[in-house]
Amino acid sequence: MSDDACIFCQIAREELPSDVVASTDEFLAFRDIQPRAATHVLIVPREHHDDLDAWIAAGGSSDRMLAFVRQVAQEVDVAGRYRLVTNVGEDAGQVVPHLHWHVMAGSRLPGF
Ligand code: AMP
Ligand code: ZN
Repeated sequence: MSDDACIFCQIAREELPSDVVASTDEFLAFRDIQPRAATHVLIVPREHHDDLDAWIAAGGSSDRMLAFVRQVAQEVDVAGRYRLVTNVGEDAGQVVPHLHWHVMAGSRLPGF
């Protein structure tokens, strides 16, 4: 998929509206449009990568990413009580082919 056609690239470039909760030069965090938990935020790299494997292969920094996760959790007031998930590939449930991490929290979270 080209970056022009990618919905999360468009959100990252702020060409499509989203409910932004935090942002850096490298990452953007915005609320999921169909939340499956009381708090459900998506974190994307601003640069297009299909999934976690592609981003790691391209040299993505998990240290900076995890620091941003903590910043997001504090921003939406769920520090110390959240779930972090990324789906890699359709078989794992990935629907949008631009890497994103789900940050979910709240009493409605189902167990695995
Ligand atoms: P995944 O199944 O891991 O690919 O998750 C894709 C997520 O993106 C789903 O939770 C959708 O609700 C969410 N989503 C799709 N389009 C938008 C959008 N325009 N703004 C915010 N979240 C979206
Ligand atoms: Zn993209």
